[in-house]
Amino acid sequence: MFKAFLIKYGEIGIKGKNRHLFEDALVRQIKYALKPVDGEFQISKEQGRIYIEALTDYDYDETVESLQHVFGIVGICPVVLTEEEGFDKLAADVVSYVDKRYPDKHKTFKVNTRRARKSYPIPSMEVNAALGERILKAFPEMTVDVHNPDILLNIEIRAKIIIYSEVIPGPGGMPVGTNGKGMLLLSGGIDSPVAGYMIAKRGVKIDAVYFHAPPYTSERAKQKVVDLARIVAKYTGPIYLKVVNFTDIQMYIYEKCPHDELTIIMRRYMMRIAEHFARETESLGLITGESIGQVASQTMQSLASTDEVCTMPVYRPLIGFDKQEIVELSKKIGTFETSILPYEDCCTIFVAKHPVTKPSLKVIRRSETHLKEQIEEMVKTAIETTETIIVKWQEEA
Ligand code: ATP
Ligand code: MG
Repeated sequence: MFKAFLIKYGEIGIKGKNRHLFEDALVRQIKYALKPVDGEFQISKEQGRIYIEALTDYDYDETVESLQHVFGIVGICPVVLTEEEGFDKLAADVVSYVDKRYPDKHKTFKVNTRRARKSYPIPSMEVNAALGERILKAFPEMTVDVHNPDILLNIEIRAKIIIYSEVIPGPGGMPVGTNGKGMLLLSGGIDSPVAGYMIAKRGVKIDAVYFHAPPYTSERAKQKVVDLARIVAKYTGPIYLKVVNFTDIQMYIYEKCPHDELTIIMRRYMMRIAEHFARETESLGLITGESIGQVASQTMQSLASTDEVCTMPVYRPLIGFDKQEIVELSKKIGTFETSILPYEDCCTIFVAKHPVTKPSLKVIRRSETHLKEQIEEMVKTAIETTETIIVKWQEEA
C-alpha cells in the first residue's frame, strides 16, 4: 500500500547554518541503512522534510527495521503521495486510504491538514471539514473525535499531496557524523557495545579497539568482538576495529607488578594504547563501558587511576546505570545474545582473587616503575603489529 516514507527528525540543535549538515548526514546514514534492503529507493530533501520513495518493489518490514537503526530519525511515516488534481480526486484518495488502511471502521478520527503550499485554493480548516464529511459519508460507522482520535489523518499539501496516519518511532538522537569521532574500547562483554551505541546516538562516529591475548584468548573470542562491532555498525556505519595483541604486555605486568594491581595497571596500558590510536585517527575522546562500582576496577579510585594516564576525555555513558538497565539496553539494541556467548576475556585470565578496590595513585605509579623501558618497547611493538579490520553491517552488494 505504501510506496514512500516521510522521515521526521528532531529540531533541536539543527537551527541555522548547521541544518544542512545535519540533513546531509541523515540522508547519508539513511542510504547506508537501506543499501542491504531489497528494493531501490530515492531519497530527497524538501523544506525541512526527508522523503524516501521506493522506485521498485521492496520489503516494507525490512525497510522500516533498517530505518529504525538511523540516529536522528524521530518518526517514520509510511505515506501515500498523490498529485494535485482537484478536491474530488483528493477526497477519493483519502477515502480509499482509510478503507485500505483500516479494515475495521469502528474508529474515531480527525483530519489534520497542513497547507505548506499556500497557493492551494482551499484553507486548511475547510479541507479538514470537507474531507471529514466525505469520510463519514463513505463509512457511517466512523465518528469524529477532535480531542483524542484513534486515527489522526494527516494531509500535507505541498508540491504533491501527502496522506499519512501512522508515525513509527525512530531511535532519536543525531545522525552519525555530525559530532566528531570517538574511540571505543570494545570488549566481548555486555557493557561496551552499549556504551558505543549511546555515544554514537549523539552523532559521534565510532572507531574501536580490542585487546586480545592469544593464545589465552581464542580466535572465537576475537570473532565475538567483530560480531558485536558488526551489530553496532548497523547503527553507526562502518567501524574501523583495531585488534591489539596484548599478551606480552599482560604477561610482563603479571611478572613485575603486584597481582592485586594487575587489572588497574593493565587498564592504564589499554588506555595509553587506545589514546595513541585515537590521536592517530583524529578521535576526540575515548569511550568505555564502565559504571561506578560495578567491579573493583570501576570504583571511583580505580576510574581516577585509569583516567590519570589519559590526556583525552574519557566518555563513560553507562556511568550511572545498574547492570540490569545495561542488560535491557543491550537486548533492545540487539547485542545481548552475542555478548553472553561464553568466550574468555583477556582481563579475566590473569585476574587476582582480591584486586585492589581503592588503588592509590602513588602506589600504582611506583609499581609501574618496575616495568622500566622494556614496557615502552612492548607498547611500540603492540602498536606496530595491530591489525585493522573494517567492520560493516553487511558487505556491499
Ligand atoms: P564489558 O561488558 O564492556 O566487557 P565489564 O563489565 O566486563 O564490561 P571490564 O572488563 O572491567 O568491565 O571492562 C571495563 C571496560 O574496559 C569495558 O567496558 C571496555 O570498554 C574496556 N575493556 C575491557 N576489556 C577490554 C578489552 N579486552 N579490549 C578492549 N576494551 C576493553
Ligand atoms: Mg569485560
